[in-house]
Amino acid sequence: MKTFSELGIDSRILKAIEELGFEKAMPVQEAVLPVLLERDTDIVALAQTGTGKTAAFGLPLIHKINCELFTPEALILCPTRELCIQIAGDLKDFSKYINNFRIVPVYGGANIETQIKQLTKGVNIIVATPGRMLDLMRRGRINLTTIKYVVLDEADEMLDMGFQDEINEILKDTPKEKNTLLFSATMPTQVERIARGYMKNPVEITVGSRNAGSDNVKHYCYLVHAKDRYLALKRIADYYPDIYAIVFCRTRRETQEVADWLIKDGYNADALHGDLSQVQRDNVMSKFRVRNLQMLVATDVAARGLDVNDLTHVINYNLPDETEAYTHRSGRTGRADKHGISIIIANMRERGKIKDIERQIGKSFKMAKIPNGKEVCEKQLFHMIDKMENVEIKDEEIADFMPVIYKKLDHLSKEDVIKRFASVEFNRFLEYYSNAPDLNVSEKAPEKTRRSNTTDGFARLFINLGKMDGLQPPHLIGLVNDVMQIRDIRIGKIEILNTYSFFEVEATYLDTMLAAFKKVKYGERVVALEQSSPRRDSDSSEGRRSGGGYRGGERHSSYRGDRGGDRGGDRRSSYRGDRDRGGDDRRDRRSEGSGDRFKKRSDDGGGFRKRSDDGAKNEAPRNTRESDRNSRTGRPSKKRY
Ligand code: AMP
Repeated sequence: MKTFSELGIDSRILKAIEELGFEKAMPVQEAVLPVLLERDTDIVALAQTGTGKTAAFGLPLIHKINCELFTPEALILCPTRELCIQIAGDLKDFSKYINNFRIVPVYGGANIETQIKQLTKGVNIIVATPGRMLDLMRRGRINLTTIKYVVLDEADEMLDMGFQDEINEILKDTPKEKNTLLFSATMPTQVERIARGYMKNPVEITVGSRNAGSDNVKHYCYLVHAKDRYLALKRIADYYPDIYAIVFCRTRRETQEVADWLIKDGYNADALHGDLSQVQRDNVMSKFRVRNLQMLVATDVAARGLDVNDLTHVINYNLPDETEAYTHRSGRTGRADKHGISIIIANMRERGKIKDIERQIGKSFKMAKIPNGKEVCEKQLFHMIDKMENVEIKDEEIADFMPVIYKKLDHLSKEDVIKRFASVEFNRFLEYYSNAPDLNVSEKAPEKTRRSNTTDGFARLFINLGKMDGLQPPHLIGLVNDVMQIRDIRIGKIEILNTYSFFEVEATYLDTMLAAFKKVKYGERVVALEQSSPRRDSDSSEGRRSGGGYRGGERHSSYRGDRGGDRGGDRRSSYRGDRDRGGDDRRDRRSEGSGDRFKKRSDDGGGFRKRSDDGAKNEAPRNTRESDRNSRTGRPSKKRY
């Protein structure tokens, strides 16, 4: 790899990046810098986050822009407030030895007047989130006629967050002869459409392969029963004592629950999701950045703006709805030339999804085994011994105490002393993990559980609600939507009887649904949901499900409107402000949003709601010895070492 001076960069920029410790160009920089330094051209670069993209576009922009003019020459659009601040910060660092070079970040959730003042003082590069940018344009507070370069950073994320219209409008107002530089981790058709629609013969640069994850990331998959997911997470955390990880969950509720369980069990963990205020989110993020937290449990959207380079692991506690999101998740480790591990905790029925992800990233998962108790203890023991070996000894400070210590331990042999020191910490683990169950599910073994009770991929369920409870099919579907908070669960035949009902549901969701319905109330009734045997043809004159029922789109189109804030036009306006507030986006709301309605109903006292005796949320671990102990004393009781 070439050095930056070999690439011909301005000496003032060289001085600044030298101070930052940049010695050699990273692959994306080596590919992009010579092209942009040599000529003005459009570029489409496929590169993961954390691969040095900011410098790849930032250094040539700073090099080329005329800092004598105080008119904006470059506009960088990015999806979140956090990324906006981060890019602007990086560019300021790169340009610190160029006098009067002005970079202004503009993003939602901050005072717009202050940002306008900053802009009117003169600016060379604007870094913006699309919503705020458009707002400023509509107020006539920004003039884009001098723009020579537009960067679309994390283009796939921006489009995924629904910023297509804003991007179109912004680009329309920029001069035709500008150059567009598009950076994206993945290349879905939406991004290709932008490249085709707005760019002229772009130079295509791919670091790694299209839609592929970073080469520095190893992908592991642990197969467990759905009920053991949380125990598996704890085992993994215990097996890697120096873990520094983001644990991705699918919904806000799950995120908060997992974080609460981890905290209760003595881990340095916290939650990051859209139900927290911006201040709370900033607070959690800064604790995580300085490693006061070892594990951050987060939704995809909330974790978007988080830039941490040295994560050891990314853990998929639950797989994302879209396979592309896996690339983004795993790309949060293995950044800046470091190595990382991306873990999936999956159950047997998620194997199809795992294959999809493998196809997308062009890599296979290593099917790993959840370590057993002995392996965890061994790992912890050697970690502790390493720590003891490497501890800094403050000879002067401890000298005064040594005579007393020698005297006290005099009767013990060296062997005894070592054993006792090791046992001080180690006993907790030994005790905790004695008789810990094997959590692994054999890849080949057929699922022994209720799966045999399914037909055509549907499982049949009994619910103790019927006509007498006022239940109609739409109510039942609404109930499933709200309790599950997952999109696209297909529902088959529904039979509403007087005091109870049957309905069919996609079998992959059976376990999760049975668990999720454990503490739900419908009106004043505690809901009981059980698996029933499959419908026989003779059960009904209609015969088996014949394409009817309440599948996918139908169900969603009729129900979308019902879910808080997720309705056509309303949705657009209600999200506009939120999106720039640093993380929340439309997609996340679709999977997380129904919680609002759920809560609202319970506030009203009607409809369905969680039972208030919500104390023991930790259903999965309750069934095992490990969890029995866990629920009494948590994990080995001390805080993380
Ligand atoms: P980015 O993908 O731009 O967010 O960069 C990821 C991290 O890599 C940031 O912390 C950068 O400061 C760092 N970085 C970027 N380029 C280099 C380089 N050439 N040498 C060392 N670190 C770099």
